[in-house]
Amino acid sequence: MLNFAKLGSEFSTKVQTQPLDQPFLIHKNTQLYADLGLVLTDSELLKITSGEEKFEQIEPIASIYAGHQFGHFNPQLGDGRSCLIGQIESNAPGSKRGYQELSLKGAGPTPYSRQADGRAVLRSSIREYLCSAAMQGLNISTTQALSLVGSSTEVYRENLETAAIVMRVAPTHIRFGHFELFASRGQIVQVKKLADFVIEQHFPELQGAKVYENFFLEVVKRTAVMIASWQAQGFAHGVMNTDNMSILGLTMDYGPFGFLETYDTSFVCNHSDHEGRYAFDQQPSIGLWNLTRLADALSSLIDTKQAKAILQTYEQQLIKSYSMLMRQKFGLTQQHEGDHQLINQFLELLRIHKKDYTNSLRGLADLEKLSADDNFSSWLVLYDQRLAEEKIEHRVELMNSVNPKFILRNYLAEEAIREAEDRKCYDKISTLFNLLSSPFEAHLGFESYTQEAPKWAQGLSVSCSS
Ligand code: AMP
Ligand code: MG
Repeated sequence: MLNFAKLGSEFSTKVQTQPLDQPFLIHKNTQLYADLGLVLTDSELLKITSGEEKFEQIEPIASIYAGHQFGHFNPQLGDGRSCLIGQIESNAPGSKRGYQELSLKGAGPTPYSRQADGRAVLRSSIREYLCSAAMQGLNISTTQALSLVGSSTEVYRENLETAAIVMRVAPTHIRFGHFELFASRGQIVQVKKLADFVIEQHFPELQGAKVYENFFLEVVKRTAVMIASWQAQGFAHGVMNTDNMSILGLTMDYGPFGFLETYDTSFVCNHSDHEGRYAFDQQPSIGLWNLTRLADALSSLIDTKQAKAILQTYEQQLIKSYSMLMRQKFGLTQQHEGDHQLINQFLELLRIHKKDYTNSLRGLADLEKLSADDNFSSWLVLYDQRLAEEKIEHRVELMNSVNPKFILRNYLAEEAIREAEDRKCYDKISTLFNLLSSPFEAHLGFESYTQEAPKWAQGLSVSCSS
């Protein structure tokens, strides 16, 4: 029985997965597969990940949660198209108790599907699968994806498409919204039960009189660290609703996400986000807004004053983590006055001259090449002076270990999707998976994957329909 199921029927419901028609395995994450110690043949894996067979006779469950969507409270959501199908004891990092939950996304309707079909289309599944690998490669905390399965099952969105299933893996898939659901119903016993469960399973080191305060402090910290790394690596989530916020500070629920390409901090990756609520530069403040909703939901366990004080640690933590990452990106190991300004001046030049964020930062390691660009000449004089004060020998290696060469550019995902949809060719998914899983390595011969968006892809937009 799944640990989460032991919480009781108020928290989840048994479901039956609906198998896909003519399923086929498109890709599997062999590293994760090995980390989990799985010993299944590909055909056994396919049966499980396509929803045809249970994993170790475990009854799948879907959980109930609520959430603030685009600022408005929705009192009841839930796993509408995902379900937990298993858990594996493992030494994989991320869980103190060393177990990982297995979850299928797109295995058919659940009691929380509302009017929707419980399915996920191939294109959005490819995006989730590749982005999970990309985030892991960038050392950003994330749910992982073990497998991607395609099928001939037809689903209707704007057009007729085919359904796919991604198997997600995480120590827990619990969201802020799980707490919000019970708090909004005044069910404080259930709020406590859920908090105790998360603490026991995932934060066992937290004990004693201030256990809930320390738990919340840890969630605040993890969320701040996660969002700091989004900002440093140019990731925009796109739908930072509280039902998409992991209680472990994992990036989750990949939808209309996007990586910053041309440097523009007001970047909105989600075509449906008309007001830019989840614009790239809004993410840090939205993180705090979401944590404040979690604090509200935990108000029966944590005194309001205490919660406020804990929330105040967020900004400091985020700035600390972000600054540390940015300093590394610029090859600065010592902390000098004026560094912050130097970094911001460079970013401002990127903005003015509409430069590619990732390529420009990766390019910083090659000063000769950068000096050929007149736009940077005055800044380079300052940077040279500053570098002279550093005594580090392996500056280039250090910088290349934090400035990725490869990110999941929208057009690259789109090319992989079109090849898969139009020609049933999955080679690009495989290539991208390899590059994105180790994005700091040179991967000589794959330079074309670092190129900026071609003309046809410049207006590409991604919406919530998935
Ligand atoms: P999202 O914005 O993708 O995080 O989804 C918001 C809510 O809608 C969640 O409760 C999902 O489970 C649910 N949902 C999204 N798409 C579907 C679908 N095709 N079928 C059932 N539920 C869905
Ligand atoms: Mg979601």
